[in-house]
Amino acid sequence: MKNTLELFKHSLNQCWISNIAQRRCEHLANSVPNSFESAMAQIGKKQLRADAVDAMLNDQDFRAKTKAAYEENARWQPYPDAILSWAIQALLSGQKSAVALARRQGKNDWEEVDAQYKAELSSAVPETWSDLEEEINEGDADFHALAKYFEAVDSCARCGAEIIHFDSLVESITSYYQLSEDDEGNASDLINEALNATDMEDAEGSCLCNYCSYMTSKDD
Ligand SMILES: [Zn+2]
Repeated sequence: MKNTLELFKHSLNQCWISNIAQRRCEHLANSVPNSFESAMAQIGKKQLRADAVDAMLNDQDFRAKTKAAYEENARWQPYPDAILSWAIQALLSGQKSAVALARRQGKNDWEEVDAQYKAELSSAVPETWSDLEEEINEGDADFHALAKYFEAVDSCARCGAEIIHFDSLVESITSYYQLSEDDEGNASDLINEALNATDMEDAEGSCLCNYCSYMTSKDD
């Protein structure tokens, strides 16, 4: 069995990818309508034969090369219409140039989605500790977003259920706000109490959810 740290890293990565995949769907919905327009702009006044475009679109080797280049940075497949603009680019400026375009687009798409994801998460992190304290006292703190922002979200190594590392989350929050030693104790108590009142499950230093911890200890 892999050690806990490895499992933790692996599941963090999984969680990251699934969040990103959701964003990707939204992003895709916005970018598809533009791809026909950009393909037309690429052609400009040049002439392209429809059968040449068709042949390029059906060239499996070309499709595989551009897809791989796109996926070097983006963690998802290119949207279906993207291949059209790459095929046109290949006919106008050669396959190398089309592969470079695919790579560039993959990088741009990834950066855009990643920046958006981080910006959304950071809005759950109030500027000062007293702002967060007030949110907690009023029951308005978004602990799930805080857990994602501070990378305290994990998934059970046995069943995949979401678990949160409460300890590391509390520590991350108090060190983020650079609290004095006196304040830190009170803050930790307040956060712990609020965390326990959420429906999030504490990993309690384990890589298993409570149910799986119980089931595996029973088997031993
Ligand atoms: Zn489990």
